Formats: sequence, C-alpha cells, structure tokens
Amino acid sequence: MTVEARPLVLGNWKMNLTAREAVAYLRDLLPRVSGYADREVAVAPPFTALPAVAPLLKESPVGLAAQDLFWESEGAYTGEISPLMLQDLGVTYVLVGHSERRRHLGETDRMVNQKVLAALRSGLRPVVCVGEQEAARASGRARSVVRSQLLRALSEVPRGEASSLAIAYEPVWAIGTGRAATPADVSEMHACIRSELQRVYGEAGGAVRILYGGSVSGGNIDAFMESPGVEGVLVGGASIRLDDFARIVGFRRPA
Ligand code: PEP
Repeated sequence: MTVEARPLVLGNWKMNLTAREAVAYLRDLLPRVSGYADREVAVAPPFTALPAVAPLLKESPVGLAAQDLFWESEGAYTGEISPLMLQDLGVTYVLVGHSERRRHLGETDRMVNQKVLAALRSGLRPVVCVGEQEAARASGRARSVVRSQLLRALSEVPRGEASSLAIAYEPVWAIGTGRAATPADVSEMHACIRSELQRVYGEAGGAVRILYGGSVSGGNIDAFMESPGVEGVLVGGASIRLDDFARIVGFRRPA
C-alpha cells in the first residue's frame, strides 16, 4: 500500500475569524485554491464558524476540518464538542494533539489517544500532531520524543484504520515563530515516523500521509514539498493570509 497519492495542504485558522469573517475570507480564497486535481486542500476554522462555512465548502473541492474534538459522543461535558457533532456538520479531518492544546490546556498523550480513537469510531480522519520542544532537539532527544508521542497517540488503533490517519510533524519551536525547521531535518524526522508506522502497521503504515507544520509560508513551501517524505503541510498563521495560503496551495514540485 502506498501513501495516498495527493499531498494534503491543511490550514489551521486557530482562534481567528468570526463566522462572518470566515465566510468572507472563504469567498475570496475558494476561487484561488480550487483548481488543483493533484492536491487536496482543507481548512480548519474555529468551531463557531463551522456551520457557516460548511455549505460553502460543500460546493467546492476544499475539505472541512475541525481543530479538536472530545472523546465522548454526548453527555455532561460542558464546553466540549463531540465527534458526532462534527460529523453532522460535514467535517472530514480533525486535528488532534496540537501543541498549543498540549501547552495551554494540559492535553496529555492519553487524552490525545482517546480523541484519535473517538474520531476513528465516528468516521472522522484524525491528523495527529507530534513534535519536540526546542530543548529536546538541542539535547538530541527529538526522535525519541516524537516516537513516544506517536506510539502513545496511536495506541490500540487497529491496522485496518491506519489509512484514515495523517500525522503532522510540528516541532514546537517552529510553530508561529517564523523559524521553520530545515527541509533536511524534516525529511529525517518523517523517515523516522514512517519507519515507526511501518513497524506497527506493516504495509498499511506506508499509506499514512506525513505532513510538516511550523512557519510554513509562501516563501518556503516549495522547498518543503520537494523534500523526500513530505506529503503535505499543516499551515497555521499563513492560512488566514489570502495571498500566502493561495501560494502555498499552488506549491511547485520538480516533475
Ligand atoms: C500550526 O498551527 O499548526 C502551525 C504550524 O502554525 P504556524 O504555521 O503559524 O507555525
């Protein structure tokens, strides 16, 4: 089994744009990112904008993603959003374990695992975020940190579900800092993630897309997409800058 052929460009809008602003932005963006058959594009607006943007995206080739989910389907979990609620809105992808949630909201590997399992049970496609802190890279522990996050996040995910997953390698020090990792370092980490996926899932581990995230911009996208093992990108800040995101989606790769 080979990696899903089309690379994925996924925009994480984080806590930005009201529902009205989100619709206005998409009206400008969609004509500029909809003409590509060889790449997949999706956006992850905040929860409050999902119902407003869902009908617009339904008529377009751009997919709908959510930034998080809770692991129960319903019940006394004030403030949380269930997988069923997302599915009901036409959400396809859901980010799980973004480092901003790990850092500001105390999300643990165990919680990330519960969310991954819940997403899969509801037919959502989790994009599992992993990445080391700067200190771990400086001390040569980047690979072991990422390997451990990955294995804990995917605990009990059966082989038959592997093809629904994507992994986003996002070094924490590169997120929102303007200091992207080097394409060579990214390729090396992606190879490490790929080998873990294949060790656990065999051939099915070869079908999981591995994305890079961390200060991706219109200026560096081509270098990342040319790098071995990069099967897409998770874009934060630049995803709500119209020209930048359109340029990222329009990345060029050598034939
Ligand atoms: C992100 O939010 O996942 C991200 C990579 O952010 P940025 O592109 O702003 O670094």
